[in-house]
Amino acid sequence: MSDNPITATVDFQKDGVQHGFLKLPHSTDASAWGSIMIPITVAGRGTGPTLLVTGGNHGDEYEGPIALFDLATRIDADDLTGRVIIVPAMNYPAFQSARRTSPIDGGNLNRLFPGTPRGTITEKIADYFQRTLLPMADYVVDLHSGGRTLDFIPFCAAHVLADKAQQARCVAAMTAFNAPYSVMMIEPDGTGLYDSAAEEMGKVFITTELGGGGTARADTVAIAKKGIANLMKHAGIRSGPLAQAPSVSLEMPEQDCFVQSETAGLLEVIVALGDPVQKGQTLALVHDVTRTGLKPVSYHSPISGIFAGRHASGLIALGDMVAVIAVEV
Ligand code: CA
Repeated sequence: MSDNPITATVDFQKDGVQHGFLKLPHSTDASAWGSIMIPITVAGRGTGPTLLVTGGNHGDEYEGPIALFDLATRIDADDLTGRVIIVPAMNYPAFQSARRTSPIDGGNLNRLFPGTPRGTITEKIADYFQRTLLPMADYVVDLHSGGRTLDFIPFCAAHVLADKAQQARCVAAMTAFNAPYSVMMIEPDGTGLYDSAAEEMGKVFITTELGGGGTARADTVAIAKKGIANLMKHAGIRSGPLAQAPSVSLEMPEQDCFVQSETAGLLEVIVALGDPVQKGQTLALVHDVTRTGLKPVSYHSPISGIFAGRHASGLIALGDMVAVIAVEV
């Protein structure tokens, strides 16, 4: 791990609360010997499990950063048995520019794991998580939302894993997080994901999609805050009862869950997130806007289920995700 250029200004082994940075050297016209300073908080007391909790893996998703900058101001080491490592904005250059990907190298952090210490800026960040932070963790929570282009029903997710004992631990963590929806997922494209990196190390890993559209709402931020508080208790790092409300169990079992646009134009979604939908039901129309008088192209639900995700922007391009359908279990 010593060949990664990132250095931490915090001591991960020390008790107490430390606020600092992951310093990533980045020599530019504006700062010859400068560094990218990724904020990090480490809070610990005694011996116990470690929770690594992150937001801003994609830089235009805000529930995670809001909940985690907030947690960093509140966390008290006296309340802990074990350690919490908080990185509110993993891909910090992307977060600073309100983009999904890094403005420096175009890097989509969640497609670049395991990273490389001699790669691009984003690959160096991935490598540091892969070889320094993930190995320290027992529990890993990565808070996502839809970003500027997608919007989701608020859900916590665990993945279908080959190791069923590990999968059961992840499902227990998802249940403890207690988002309004709990989803078992098979990733449409697992290559390069932080999720897969954590799971392949045997960690208890959960993720979320808590909303989207390039903003955050009061209700979705509250879900993130409650979920992290619950997870700390579930892990045994904090004591006290979990705040539990009903959660709808869903699965996204196959490619049939996803509807992609085969046209470009103006998107008219005609069902609301959370609505039940029937197989064959019209979900959305895409209007050709090159001239008036053309019939829109309609997109239908490939399966019966719950309308779980949608394209957030008003305009849609060929190949964009129109809709995501989840199935109640
Ligand atoms: Ca995301």
